[in-house]
Amino acid sequence: MTRIVCQFSCGAASAVATKLTLAEFGASHDVQIINAFLKNEHPDNRRFATDCETWFGRPMTMLRDVKYGADVIEVFRRKQFIKSRRGAPCSMELKRKLLDAWKQPGDVMVFGYTAEESDRLDDFRERNPDRPVIAPLIDKGLTKEDCKAMVQRAGLKLPFMYEQGYENANCIGCVKGGEGYFRGIREDYPAEFKELADIEAEIGPGAYILRYRSGPLKDQRFPLHDLPAGPLIRNEALPSCSFFCEMAEQEYTA
Ligand code: SF4
Repeated sequence: MTRIVCQFSCGAASAVATKLTLAEFGASHDVQIINAFLKNEHPDNRRFATDCETWFGRPMTMLRDVKYGADVIEVFRRKQFIKSRRGAPCSMELKRKLLDAWKQPGDVMVFGYTAEESDRLDDFRERNPDRPVIAPLIDKGLTKEDCKAMVQRAGLKLPFMYEQGYENANCIGCVKGGEGYFRGIREDYPAEFKELADIEAEIGPGAYILRYRSGPLKDQRFPLHDLPAGPLIRNEALPSCSFFCEMAEQEYTA
């Protein structure tokens, strides 16, 4: 029986994508739900995962890295870089490689891309015509906001970081964030902000996440420790982090 693999990332979109996949294929296919544990996510993500297992009516398989203790900071320390045009080593080491070890030939992957992200799906399919994927949220025209509302209407409490105003439940201090996002993290999670800023400083200028947007130093990177005061934008758009998004991004940047 074909396996259909839903990657649950503790975000609203992946929760709804999983629920829709189970509704459509749960009786006819072997639908698997996988999740990667990351030490750096907010602890409330675990509560949300448990609530969703109840909503789905079945358990999920949790994958957990042991090489780096499932800790993005440890990945950065040992890899000596934080992100590049080819993606971030944290999602590669703590998600993608676990998926590669777990997946089987013939698996159909479920992408949790929302309607806003249909171009990403088009790009992926164009570059990977032989890789079967389904994208239930795009098929049904569902946006990120729709997914949040659907989760709440099902009686589930969204992960705490959504309630704080963040756009997703990524790691606290996700390296895909920008200035406004990191001002929010600095205010809300000073210890996690400092840990990331410290490892960035330890690795050196090549690891700096942020760049000046204007002025004489425009496009030059600067350290998180020097993040100036300014607008705090908790809901700054940043990509959700999943096994499959990373897979797609690898294709864009290969
Ligand atoms: S959420 Fe961000 S920091 Fe965490 S693994 Fe994904 S890309 Fe890395």
